[in-house]
Amino acid sequence: MSRSTSLNAARRETELAALEARPDIDVLVVGGGVTGAGVALDAASRGLRTVLVERDDLAFGTSRWSSKLVHGGLRYLAKGQIGIAYESARERDVLMRVTAPHLVRPLPMVVPVYRGDAPMRALIVRAGMGAGDLLRVLAGTPSSVLRGPRVLSARQTLRLLPGVRREGLLAGILSFDGQLIDDARLVIGIARTAAGEGASIITRCSAQSVSADGAVLRDEIDGRIIPVRPRAVVNATGVHADALDPRIRLRPSRGTHLVLEGAALGHPRAALTVPLPGSVDRFVFAMPQPDGRVFAGLTDEPLDGPTPRVPEVPEEDVDFLLERFNGALATALTKDDVIGSFAGLRPLLDGDGDSANLSREHSVTVSPQGTVTVVGGKLTTYRAMAEETVDAVVAEHRLAAAPCRTREIPLVGAASHEELDSLDAPRHLVARYGMEALDVVAEADDDPASLTPVVRGITPAELRFGVRHEGALDVSDLLERRTRIGLVPADGERAAAAAERALSEVGR
Ligand SMILES: Cc1cc2nc3c(=O)[nH]c(=O)nc-3n(C[C@H](O)[C@H](O)[C@H](O)COP(=O)(O)OP(=O)(O)OC[C@H]3O[C@@H](n4cnc5c(N)ncnc54)[C@H](O)[C@@H]3O)c2cc1C
Repeated sequence: MSRSTSLNAARRETELAALEARPDIDVLVVGGGVTGAGVALDAASRGLRTVLVERDDLAFGTSRWSSKLVHGGLRYLAKGQIGIAYESARERDVLMRVTAPHLVRPLPMVVPVYRGDAPMRALIVRAGMGAGDLLRVLAGTPSSVLRGPRVLSARQTLRLLPGVRREGLLAGILSFDGQLIDDARLVIGIARTAAGEGASIITRCSAQSVSADGAVLRDEIDGRIIPVRPRAVVNATGVHADALDPRIRLRPSRGTHLVLEGAALGHPRAALTVPLPGSVDRFVFAMPQPDGRVFAGLTDEPLDGPTPRVPEVPEEDVDFLLERFNGALATALTKDDVIGSFAGLRPLLDGDGDSANLSREHSVTVSPQGTVTVVGGKLTTYRAMAEETVDAVVAEHRLAAAPCRTREIPLVGAASHEELDSLDAPRHLVARYGMEALDVVAEADDDPASLTPVVRGITPAELRFGVRHEGALDVSDLLERRTRIGLVPADGERAAAAAERALSEVGR
């Protein structure tokens, strides 16, 4: 890496001034979700002068509302989409072993099997897990990283899922997949790694228009207009991709998760996985999080009307999820158990059929003006999508660029598990920051109060680190994306003053 990976308000100003002074760049990436950040990293690491603009904050869109799974593509396998399934398993391997071992951990997932369940269903689910494990082997992921599936006794099932209904419980089918410590942290890690490779990462800056003659940017903080002359533009604006390229036709679908206290489900140690009635390949999941809470999701409902920047959670999604989980639980959940909720919009490419069957595959297209739009896909496969996109950019615009090398570039903070385990830093910081946990500790400046949690284990040192190194510009960046304190509104209110303090302390 040639440049600092730190993003902050001062660097943003410097990058904007440099862009105004030298508007001729190689690649303009529009959108700071996982897709745009991945493209910026790929392009910059091939030696292209790259600028990423994001109109809000990094991970402002769909990328922060995911299920936070780095999945091996089991679901695609069930649909016979072997290519996508294999790509998922291969990219999961890259993330877990090379680029982000610090951000992804194995998540045990259990499907409870009851007397009275259709026997064929259990057999099909078990066979599916076996096929998923074959993909793991083919992708080269050793069982020391992700263990293979197995059948559990009723007792073993209850040990992992103490909250499930006991009567009639026969067994559980256990399998493992990857779980991100947090999706927004993945995006920020990719964007900072791109900055280290020389990309300019500029948040609060929107692309107003793109054409064959250039692009018009707007600084969303002071309103100034910045014309730029990129040789290539990549549209990575997710569910808003049609605003920059009207040929793109999307049919967004809403996926809702509920936030629950772990106690409401008996403090599960695995993801409770419940098949949807009449289906063998569609499930709802209640996934334990590192802080003990549980995210339970998810719905798949076509979005009606205009596409909002931040989707709301309708009551019917809450009712649907509670009903699905209550069928498997000993003590029914009520709305009082729901301490937070969030919804994300899948940027699905338009097609026929219900939204659960629309393509999850990505598409890379080139408009008549030469704008390359990349849309669809998933967090897990961001690197492969970026590689394909930059290959298209280089070919279309005849840019001189080195071959892709992102498969070998660890994200900021990444290291092997041996190195992470032996780091002399608090474990909860290593889990979120990897090797940078030491820099977070340094932020405390020997003041024990700075390492004393404000809310849910998050400390003032982390908030300051977010401002100094992770590009947080305001309270919402800190509470909604550098940390996820804001997922439970009451927590966000309690932490707001500490976030204000961190911003003013670092700004001084
Ligand atoms: C509910 C749900 C659960 C999911 N779960 C998983 C999962 O567990 N694992 C997985 O691998 N995948 C998952 N996915 C898929 C994955 O989250 C998405 O495919 C991915 O996040 C899309 O990222 P993106 O960067 O393309 O879009 P986004 O994250 O939406 O980013 C687009 C960005 O562009 C910005 N933007 C828009 N217009 C402009 C403009 N004019 N100028 C500047 N910036 C602009 C927006 O502010 C936004 O930040 C899930 C998706 C959903 C909806």
